[in-house]
Amino acid sequence: MDKQEMLQWLSGHAEEFYRIGDALWDTPEVRFTEQHSSHLLAEALEQEGFQTEWNLAGMETAFRCTWGSGKPVIGFLAEFDALPDLSQEAGIAEKKPIEPGGNGHGCGHNLLGAGSLAGALGMKKYLEANGLPGTVAFLGCPAEEGGGGKTFMARAGCFHDLDFALTWHPGCGNAIPPGIFLANCMVRYSFTGVTSHAAGSPEQGRSALDALELLNIGIQFLREHIPSTARLHYAIVDTGGISPNIVQGHASGLYQIRAPHTPMVIEIYERLNRIAQGAALMTDTELKIEFLRATSNTVPNVVLDKIPSLIVAFICAVFVCPRFAVDRGPMYTEQERKAAKKELPPLGPVREVLGYGIFLVVVICMLLSNYIPLEIWQICMIGDLVTNFIQNVLGTNPNPWGAVIVLWLTAFIVTQFMSNLALMTAMGPLVYLLCYSYGWNPIGLVYMVNTACFISYLPPLSTVAIPYMMQLGGYEQKDLLRMGWIPAILMTVVSVPWVMITFPPC
Ligand SMILES: [Zn+2]
Repeated sequence: MDKQEMLQWLSGHAEEFYRIGDALWDTPEVRFTEQHSSHLLAEALEQEGFQTEWNLAGMETAFRCTWGSGKPVIGFLAEFDALPDLSQEAGIAEKKPIEPGGNGHGCGHNLLGAGSLAGALGMKKYLEANGLPGTVAFLGCPAEEGGGGKTFMARAGCFHDLDFALTWHPGCGNAIPPGIFLANCMVRYSFTGVTSHAAGSPEQGRSALDALELLNIGIQFLREHIPSTARLHYAIVDTGGISPNIVQGHASGLYQIRAPHTPMVIEIYERLNRIAQGAALMTDTELKIEFLRATSNTVPNVVLDKIPSLIVAFICAVFVCPRFAVDRGPMYTEQERKAAKKELPPLGPVREVLGYGIFLVVVICMLLSNYIPLEIWQICMIGDLVTNFIQNVLGTNPNPWGAVIVLWLTAFIVTQFMSNLALMTAMGPLVYLLCYSYGWNPIGLVYMVNTACFISYLPPLSTVAIPYMMQLGGYEQKDLLRMGWIPAILMTVVSVPWVMITFPPC
């Protein structure tokens, strides 16, 4: 069975997968209550010879269905939980609840479960038909909407024996996402006060709703003093009643904190706690803090981005370059080189002063940059020149493909005339700043600029290894051009689209 045949097998069984996706839609169950949904998926796998294990990490609806033996162990992650208050009739584009206030599948976890099921069965068929070793592990992960089921499964070691795992989420496009998801946590603050008639005996009352309002005001002021990459969300889930003439004795809200890294989330969480304690003090009410859940930020696999370049570099070095590089033998004998070293004339006074002088002036200017009317990148020249050039070309609202090509060309062209390591060091921060100003993800672009800086096979200036090799192998500039153009074009063709697929800027 080849890949094409496996895809045909999957298409032939599409109706079955649609039926399961629809059945999950028809029985929407929210976090940790997915009894029907989890059993539906497990039964479909059991019919194909999978063995099921229930109650993973102490959660009734977390399960693993396993088929096959030996390595590799291939994981398929499935989600199947619904969201509250999203009941919806299927197949129409306007809001029409089947049951007002009921549960519904808002972001397609019914498809997520059924799609992963198709993936696991397709993989099983492929291994089976080709007599290959391998284990297929289908992991049912409950409560992904507001419960973080995978967190508990990870802590219990449910993923330890996997060689790799595939997961996905329904969306508007078919792509590998940028890889960064924010760390986050959810907390409930509940205040308890004393009820009383608001006109007859207000002095007897202690308002929990006032405390909740003060907490929210405190949080609005906090927003200015947290990193701009962090997010704070809230929902009031208990107002303490609907009567304004009663002092509200209970009130609570749900709060969510998101930030690029877990330590940042923890720091903001602790500040939120102190604001809530302050609100309780101000209103003479009691505060209860319930830490509900948290997940860390994702850590993208950047190594993946380097693989195509490494493959191309290897192929070029072993098969392509030797065809174009004529070994003319060393240009100089060992004695001639030793003699040439001795005869090397000392630098003239002007060149010597310039050599040290420029370096010293730049360092002194950088140290005194607070006192002279120049920005750091104006002192260093290259930063200003390159950023101005790139920003002029791109404009205010650039197309990501345009940006990728401009950055690639800039790094590629400039590195032909200066050290690639120096250019890489200079361009890294520029790319970060550029991405920051456009609100883009910088991972792919930084990596791509680094690759462009390393494709410096054309002239001898970009890295010291090249003049050294030219001398040893007796190569000339025209040999470098002959050898260098194929890897340069191949690397460009491979790296630019690959980066846009694996780590698109937006
Ligand atoms: Zn979702």
